[in-house]
Amino acid sequence: MPHRSVYLDHAATTPCDARVVDAMLPWLREHFGNPASRGHAWGREAEDAVQRARAQVAALVGAEPSEIVWTSGATESDNLALKGAAHARCAQGRHLVTVKTEHKAVLDTMHALGRQGFEVTSLDVPASGLLDPERLAGALRADTTLVSVMLVNNEIGVVQDIAAIGALCRARGILLHVDAAQASGKVAIDLATLPVDLMSLTAHKSYGPKGIGALYVRRKPRVRLEPQMHGGGHERGLRSGTLATHQCVGMGEAFRIAGEEMHAEVERVRALQRRLLAGLATLGQVDINGDLERRVPHNVNASFAGVDAERLTSALEGIALSTASACASSSGEPSHVLRAIGCSDERAHSSLRLSIGRHTTAQDIDTVLERLQGALAVPGAPPPPHGPARPGPTRHTALSA
Ligand SMILES: *Cc1c(COP(=O)(O)O)cnc(C)c1O
Repeated sequence: MPHRSVYLDHAATTPCDARVVDAMLPWLREHFGNPASRGHAWGREAEDAVQRARAQVAALVGAEPSEIVWTSGATESDNLALKGAAHARCAQGRHLVTVKTEHKAVLDTMHALGRQGFEVTSLDVPASGLLDPERLAGALRADTTLVSVMLVNNEIGVVQDIAAIGALCRARGILLHVDAAQASGKVAIDLATLPVDLMSLTAHKSYGPKGIGALYVRRKPRVRLEPQMHGGGHERGLRSGTLATHQCVGMGEAFRIAGEEMHAEVERVRALQRRLLAGLATLGQVDINGDLERRVPHNVNASFAGVDAERLTSALEGIALSTASACASSSGEPSHVLRAIGCSDERAHSSLRLSIGRHTTAQDIDTVLERLQGALAVPGAPPPPHGPARPGPTRHTALSA
């Protein structure tokens, strides 16, 4: 009997909600106008759709529609926020601060700024993965212009205390950028009260299409950015390029649904996470990475003592999850996030990330637990799902969020 397939990799990407696809199609099929062509009906109806979607994105995070700049995703938003703010404020200082557990879209951008004459401080975190605001306060200097701290971590799911971090920055006139790619639809965000100046968002981690995201840019107090894409002056000159109406509509609909259903969905996911954690606890020595309280219920990052995660996943064919130990390159380096929270290389290489989503069922969780139990039955040598063991290289399932 073939194994049932289960998708537990929602932190890498989510399926596009059927309602989102339905909302997008007319803007591909019939209403093809350029939203910048305000001189005729085709353009104006596209512009109206883009503005409605902008308001839907803004509403989920408590922003004004005029504070939302469309981008291609969180990677571009991170680049625009960090390079844009660092360069716009370089007369005031060239010191930037971030955290070692950030996404590569932030860390690599910071690294690039480091090569352009900026000085970057990357803060350590304890085993919980949570940044201590006191540690941040100790790193801030007179020439610090920008701090970047993510809201929800993509590998271990912990939720940073952005309110406290933002208050520290605001008191010193330092901008705070927050990568919220993993947070939309999982935790409530209210930028009307949260002291955050720039926030990166993306559609495809929240049941919208890939290739569309947004950067929130605060207007009061006003944040100035150096544009990174020059051209037709779209998006108030901050990001030129013809807007993809269907993509904007898709992100708007995905964020509208997230706003309406988040509360019930989080409770459902929490029950599934409890089921998963209870099952994992019966499988031998399994340790959960990252703080157990301040986390989204969608993420479980578990280390299986003495087990090679790559071999474990190859015995779990048909189940989509990520090995937290692999990195996107083939270097075989352990995850920078697990390393930053103090995991040994061995522990990092024995870790799996399971991420629960909108369509996950209790049956899915039970299936994964059964398969894990079977695979762990022979320590260090999980049997293949079908037929005899095949020699050859281990399949490489890199963490791709
Ligand atoms: C997925 C992700 C990104 C990159 O987002 P894209 O929209 O795929 O470019 C950035 N930051 C975090 C925390 C992510 O999880």
